[in-house]
Amino acid sequence: MEPAQDAKGFKQDFMKRWTPYFKKRYVLFFIVSIVSLVIPFIKLNGNHVFLLSFDRKQLQLMGVAFDMQEFYLMPFLLIMMFMFVFFLTTLGGRVWCGWACPQTIFRAIYRDFIEGWLLGMHSRRNKQKSAKMEKLENKAKKVVAILIWTLLAFVAASNFMWYFIPPEDFFAYMANPSEHMVLLGFVGGVTLFLVYDVVWLAENFCIYVCPYARIQSVMYDNNTIMEIYDDKRGGVIYDQSGHKIADKPSEGDCVGCMACVNVCPTHIDIRKGLQLECINCLECADACAPVMASLGKENLIQWTSYEAMETGKTKIFRFRIIAYIVMLTMAFSGLLLMGSKKEHMLLNINRTTELYAVKDSGIVENHYTFLFQNTDSKEHDYYFEVVGNEDIKISRPTEPFKLNAGSKANKVVVLYTDKEIAKNDRKDTPIAIKIRSFAVDDKQKIVVERDAVFFYPSTEVLNEKKAK
Ligand code: SF4
Ligand code: SF4
Repeated sequence: MEPAQDAKGFKQDFMKRWTPYFKKRYVLFFIVSIVSLVIPFIKLNGNHVFLLSFDRKQLQLMGVAFDMQEFYLMPFLLIMMFMFVFFLTTLGGRVWCGWACPQTIFRAIYRDFIEGWLLGMHSRRNKQKSAKMEKLENKAKKVVAILIWTLLAFVAASNFMWYFIPPEDFFAYMANPSEHMVLLGFVGGVTLFLVYDVVWLAENFCIYVCPYARIQSVMYDNNTIMEIYDDKRGGVIYDQSGHKIADKPSEGDCVGCMACVNVCPTHIDIRKGLQLECINCLECADACAPVMASLGKENLIQWTSYEAMETGKTKIFRFRIIAYIVMLTMAFSGLLLMGSKKEHMLLNINRTTELYAVKDSGIVENHYTFLFQNTDSKEHDYYFEVVGNEDIKISRPTEPFKLNAGSKANKVVVLYTDKEIAKNDRKDTPIAIKIRSFAVDDKQKIVVERDAVFFYPSTEVLNEKKAK
């Protein structure tokens, strides 16, 4: 960043940067940070607004808990996420990078707030101090800045973890760190990465590491809104092959002050045109505005589209944008539809290896293993019934059983019949049945139905058994 023009103090230096786009971005940074911190604590119906818990094997979304076996929602979420990124990039270029990306926000906190506003590291040289003294002081300030950021990076790393480990569990685990070394190592690792990333890697992350930078340019079209240097008014600085002609054009309004270049966090010259490194922060536009205003002219760097530069208007609703809106709507409808089909309990039915058992009294039994899972946020008593065949009855278990929220239980189930429900001399008869399982205290909401088969022996087997 360019040193301030006067030496009245670092807070004044910071306030000088409190320009229109800068102000709007920082307000949004603040909102995004608060929302990210608060979301993991918000609960609806006892569940989180968003939690992808590997521990509980659950996705909690808008207060509804989805079990691993219900992860059919994930594709819809992923499709929505990708579609939204494509939509946003086509519409507003790298607007995410400049306005809401954690990397940009972290850099703003470290560079502008800690180093700049708090420690005054970007202020103009104090002539009353020797260069050696000032160098030493800056080194000490750098250490302090890194320490402060390390503390904040730890909060950010913990905040990241709260989307995977609910805060209530996280704090309980952290209170007993010796038993949760993996978690501690993970938080420590993310913290260290954030320190390295924000302090040393800086905007190089956006240029060389982030994959989004590589793919974004293919989504741009003539109507994409981005920061554009108006070379018709400003004058040409670079030739067709990208070689610089001069800092100041021979013709045009650009005075070659380099304010736009000096302020750029990715160290590029916007006057060269669209570049992969540009993160859409608009600091160059803010830097050029007062220079041009002092000459009574309009800003040479604008947040607009090439189409608007030519025709005066950006076409928002074009084919690509409409296609993304349609796909987003479809994915969102799919998410709502599938989400509304959420079952508050799960039931898997497996047969035991034995097909059936015939008792001396002629009673025929079939044995099963039922896996019940309570996916609701409260405990319930569960039981089940055979639907559509009154002759098949339950022998075991004889009573409802309790299941805590989120827990599962394997139950041995015996169904029997004392009636002749099929007649085939030589072959066993498979009879399709339906099992309806429910929470005794909420039969309306917590109920599932599953298909199963009851095997009835052939007359030959029955007669053999009776003859013994
Ligand atoms: S050219 Fe530099 S200062 Fe301008 S928007 Fe892009 S990254 Fe920001
Ligand atoms: S800030 Fe404006 S006038 Fe100064 S070099 Fe950049 S484009 Fe030209």
